[in-house]
Amino acid sequence: MALAAFGARPDGGVDRQTLTQAEIEARAELVRWGRALGLKPFTDAGANLFLRWDGVEPDLPPVLAGSHIDSQPTGGKFDGAYGVLAALEAVQAMQTAGLHPRRSIEIVAWTNEEGSRFAPGMTGSELFTGVKTLDQIADLSDGDGVRLGDALAAVLAADTDVPRRPFGRSVAAFVEPHIEQGPVLEREGIPVGIVSGIQGTRRYRVRVTGEAAHAGTAERHERRDALMAAVRMVAAADRAAMDPPDTKLTVGLFQVTPNAPSVVPSEVFFSIDLRHPENAVVDRLDAAIRQIVEAERGPCQVVLNQIQHASSLSFAPEIRASLSRAAAALGIAHRDIYSAAGHDARPLHYACPTGMIFVPCRDGISHNPAEWAEPSDLTAGAKVLADALFALADAP
Ligand SMILES: [Zn+2]
Repeated sequence: MALAAFGARPDGGVDRQTLTQAEIEARAELVRWGRALGLKPFTDAGANLFLRWDGVEPDLPPVLAGSHIDSQPTGGKFDGAYGVLAALEAVQAMQTAGLHPRRSIEIVAWTNEEGSRFAPGMTGSELFTGVKTLDQIADLSDGDGVRLGDALAAVLAADTDVPRRPFGRSVAAFVEPHIEQGPVLEREGIPVGIVSGIQGTRRYRVRVTGEAAHAGTAERHERRDALMAAVRMVAAADRAAMDPPDTKLTVGLFQVTPNAPSVVPSEVFFSIDLRHPENAVVDRLDAAIRQIVEAERGPCQVVLNQIQHASSLSFAPEIRASLSRAAAALGIAHRDIYSAAGHDARPLHYACPTGMIFVPCRDGISHNPAEWAEPSDLTAGAKVLADALFALADAP
């Protein structure tokens, strides 16, 4: 609740978009909370924030835990923030209990997970893991024309006595607690989900080009109607995605040119977002979509661009086992659960053994001021994190 004061909206939600003044102030508050526990703050050129608790053997690669503190413009109090604060709580609990693990533990808040101000998101975790370089992202700009590179510089300049470290440090493990953003745990009354993996995504942009013509005089056989072609493509893709039934196909962007009532449309630009837990299903539908746009284009031209491809992934068995063991030992009900949304844990998965803990959120709602999670569930997730984190950090 204290962190939610930074960027608080009148409707109870949070507007704390990445690298804004609200996030700068929230970040400074986190640093104060960390310093009060004797933690050392660090950052890097991606403005990721780390609060480090030195282990007994501080030269060993650290264990990281956390998530992000940026939000959507109409965000809630828990998405991201819970993971960072649960990690802070876990470290404080270890200190209170007089435990001191061999490895250092670093609480982390990754920069621009949400991608609402600078798209795409997960900037900080992708820079940290080398998926992207600063050069590749510096020229992204927000709606006001502010460059991401300049926004990063402003945030780093606002840090007081926070040393900067290079990318490419080795990490022993990463655990990310997060609200589920779906209805499963709440429906089943289970406070902790051990996340088995993250669903794969393919995103496309499709441009259909025809020719503008008079709605009254152009004969059917001479028309090159981009909208009619696009509508056939969307309908056929939707039919293809009916099998298997848990496939998610979304056309959320659809722009018609010239978008005038009496003109045959000359161009349509639309998006396709395709997701399924099994890579084989996504690959099969990828082939189907490519075939469909060609088959349905009629006399128009079509260009399909795949702008993103993220494979489905399964988290490290040893991290999942560690989280399950901790939950079982605490007597906290838990189940395996699959993540339908992307998280910073995705790029980290390819850099070190990684896992996630989900806790229920009311009605599965997130990216919304109505976002809510019960204190008892948040506590259960933080307890599991604390015990698993200590086990991971104290391991040889
Ligand atoms: Zn999040």
